[in-house]
Amino acid sequence: MYESRSHCIVWHSKVMTFQCNRCHTQINLTAGTIFHATKLPLVIWFQAMYFMTQTKNNVSALELKRLTSVCYRTAWRDKHKLAQVMIEREETTILSGRVEVDDPTWGVNTQEAKPVVVQRTRCHS
Ligand SMILES: [Zn+2]
Repeated sequence: MYESRSHCIVWHSKVMTFQCNRCHTQINLTAGTIFHATKLPLVIWFQAMYFMTQTKNNVSALELKRLTSVCYRTAWRDKHKLAQVMIEREETTILSGRVEVDDPTWGVNTQEAKPVVVQRTRCHS
């Protein structure tokens, strides 16, 4: 058991829990995050986040399934959960100043949509 002044680490089978040395409240590492009570290893979540944010085109649940080696249902759920979190986080952000978009694609039909390449320059706010 690890111990510091403020907290100690308690293991409940394979789950690591932090316990406050004053009030003995126990808290899980993922408490208060979207990973709370997940059974999926965090490394899979982080892989999914990486693929969802590093792919220029939207990554499908089927592709995420293949990339992270999980079942389709898990890939679909992870994708939607992560996308929802990204939406919620960004919806309060208001862009201001000069905003430049790099390599965007507009249009509903991806075969008809033509990519518009904007030269990458520094953003000036
Ligand atoms: Zn406490």
